[in-house]
Amino acid sequence: MNIEVIKADITKIPADAIVNAANSSLLGGGGVDGAIHRAGGKQILEECIQIRNRQGKCNTGEAVVTAAGNLPAKYVIHTVGPVWNGDEDKSSKLLEDCYKNSLQLAESLGVKTIAFPNISTGIYKFPKELAGRIAVETVRNFQSDNIEKVIFVCFDEENEMIYKKLLD
Ligand code: ADP
Repeated sequence: MNIEVIKADITKIPADAIVNAANSSLLGGGGVDGAIHRAGGKQILEECIQIRNRQGKCNTGEAVVTAAGNLPAKYVIHTVGPVWNGDEDKSSKLLEDCYKNSLQLAESLGVKTIAFPNISTGIYKFPKELAGRIAVETVRNFQSDNIEKVIFVCFDEENEMIYKKLLD
């Protein structure tokens, strides 16, 4: 699996799947979640509502998939990151689950390229360096037959520098 880092708006990335740092309601929110729903249009929210009607809310660490509406991607994989509360072990495991479950879902959909935002490092306040280490390690450890490229899409310079260093 080829791993890339870029500083960009994830809604502009033409990958097979982009990942959304959603909240457990799946009904949209701020940050990257708001940006994805705004740029992708109402199809994404409609499918999120159908998922909620089927299974209820999405638990932290889990992932679900919708179409990508107007985005230049095929799928949006919505995963719910942990809110940082200082419990490093528990939060780290949940963040690892986000990356693992998103990759597993992508794998089952035959996705070749997948783009991740820096899950939980915005409104959810997960320490960026630790989040980056977990993201890179989980992707590196994932065994895949289909996924050829993983793109870490950083939105701020601090994350970009952290990821560049981790992947050096
Ligand atoms: P969380 O609630 O999981 O912390 P946020 O959306 O607040 O989710 O932040 C997650 C990360 O996404 C942060 O690093 C934030 O800077 C970044 N981000 C915000 N908007 C975008 C965007 N349009 N594209 C890519 N990343 C974004």
